[in-house]
Amino acid sequence: MDVLIATKLSQNTTDKTSYIAFTNLKKEFRKWEEVMNSPIDRIKKSIKVCGLANTKSANIKEMLNLMYKNFGNLSLNYLKKMSDDEVYEELLQYKGIGKKTISCVLAFGMGREVFPVDTHIHRILNRVGAVDTKTPDETFELSGKIIPDKYKISFHTNLIRFGRNVCKAIKPECYDCTINDLCSYKSKVLFDTKVTSKENNFIILENI
Ligand code: SF4
Repeated sequence: MDVLIATKLSQNTTDKTSYIAFTNLKKEFRKWEEVMNSPIDRIKKSIKVCGLANTKSANIKEMLNLMYKNFGNLSLNYLKKMSDDEVYEELLQYKGIGKKTISCVLAFGMGREVFPVDTHIHRILNRVGAVDTKTPDETFELSGKIIPDKYKISFHTNLIRFGRNVCKAIKPECYDCTINDLCSYKSKVLFDTKVTSKENNFIILENI
């Protein structure tokens, strides 16, 4: 549940703010049952730093209530008996939970060999020419088939780091990139000059 909620909070925001929001939520509420029963404004206040607090707090409260109604508790242990496809089918029914979030639950909460794709991974794989896709979901479908299972989680984690430190969304550091020769990104010549930028080594899921 921690991974599910943390990943939900990370939608459309930075790792730093979503980590603060998750930490606030855990400080404010001792159990997920308390979040489920809390007035929505209290949840909103705890997570407001990460943006979209209205939607996120409503989605989280509704999801917890539905899970409790269906299973009588807020443990996700019942997912362990399911195949990956069944877990996607099960969790997709909750508002605001998409494939990326479920992939993170499978990979980091359940140790399954899946390859979560966020906008950063989508960007990098398209830049280097590993895929030619329009959306993260499309990249997810394709990359899941071509990346060997045993490398999926480590490749995901390393690509996230690579995207933060080298192949950044704005001003990628192509001048210092070890795979520059292999990369098909047409605009890479524009980024052959060093620029000053702040580093962000924060990975939210490592802190859970
Ligand atoms: S050369 Fe530039 S665009 Fe290509 S992978 Fe490296 S940093 Fe990213």
